[in-house]
Amino acid sequence: MPEEPRTPSDPSGPSGPPASRRDPFAWLDEARASRERAGLVRTLRHRSADSGLLDLAGNDYLGLTRHPEVTAAAADAARLWGAGSTGSRLVTGSTALHAELEDELALFCGFEAALVVSSGYAANLAALTALTGRGSLVVSDAGNHASLIDGCRLSRAETAVVPHAAPEAVAKALDGHDGRALAVTDSVFSVDGDAAPLRALYEVCRGQGAALLVDDAHGLGVVGGAGRGAVHDAGLSGTASTVATVTLSKALGSQGGAILGPARVIAHLVDTARTVIFDTGLAPSAAGAALAALRLLRREPDRAARVRRAAALLHDGLTAAGLYAARPDAAVVSVRAPSPDAAVRWAADCRAAGLQVGCFRPPSVPDGISRLRLTARADLGDAQLAAATSTIVRTAPAGAIV
Ligand code: PMP
Repeated sequence: MPEEPRTPSDPSGPSGPPASRRDPFAWLDEARASRERAGLVRTLRHRSADSGLLDLAGNDYLGLTRHPEVTAAAADAARLWGAGSTGSRLVTGSTALHAELEDELALFCGFEAALVVSSGYAANLAALTALTGRGSLVVSDAGNHASLIDGCRLSRAETAVVPHAAPEAVAKALDGHDGRALAVTDSVFSVDGDAAPLRALYEVCRGQGAALLVDDAHGLGVVGGAGRGAVHDAGLSGTASTVATVTLSKALGSQGGAILGPARVIAHLVDTARTVIFDTGLAPSAAGAALAALRLLRREPDRAARVRRAAALLHDGLTAAGLYAARPDAAVVSVRAPSPDAAVRWAADCRAAGLQVGCFRPPSVPDGISRLRLTARADLGDAQLAAATSTIVRTAPAGAIV
């Protein structure tokens, strides 16, 4: 057989090693070195069960993940149904607990129906791939979460990325499109914690015959009087053209996700969504924990107001000291850092002082501005919030005070 022509630099050429001895992952070393040069190497830090750190980095907004009723419900569910769900929702992975959770979630958030899946990420992939496709148009906010971006990519729909929180840009992108169309947005954006103009987006979509998909991951349990979420708060949850996704892993302190919408939308997802059909159903312990957390929230609705107040207190204390943080619309408070390195050092200094905070830097933040990301919690008292504020101010790098 004639040999393929080879370029002089081709390491598999006559002077290079034979193909069978080539290292297919050799390129990883250069990729790692380049991440090291750019300061982008990440480490998995294992937390201990009782680190003594004050946690403003996790997403346990309502302080429910260790609530005795929630952990007992997880244990009871595992004992009754097993540690895993054993199969796809369509085969053996649906239990009475999944059905109860779906009914109560739908009722609480004001939707006709709900479908529980293994994560919020899977919920977004399910909604986008099943409700759009080749020939349809998706209009996506530039600040959307990675799982929505991936859903757009997997959907094979034409995707128009529009400027952040700009209903007029959504209207322009939808204008003149005859086929199926859907606009997609986070309700509360995960980096800066700002809210989307949901009502205006809905009006635009209605006017142009488009559906609206809202990722309410950061709204459920936090936004609205009783924490029913940003979609409910905007009066959109019962509408025929609005679909929401949520995660069970933030305010509800568990793990998993759900899609909420009109019954015919949910029925379509059961029949066609690949992350419903080909993924193992949510573990019963996670469903049980989420259901217990939801019931707790219904019984103690002031938890939602408490987390919003905690976020406002953090924001006010930090900005009074001269740091820059946008006014929070939910639980996330985002504080500007002067550079990626300064953000990493700042977070490390906070940690050394007993406070755990999140640190966002490029490429996770596409606008190139690094930040400390703080998540308020309903179970923190004023003294803890004041102590956290003073630690952040005391450790602030030069250039962070504006
Ligand atoms: N959407 C948003 C806005 C999120 O912040 C997250 C979690 N970071 C997700 C979806 C994914 O949810 P989950 O972690 O349950 O997969």
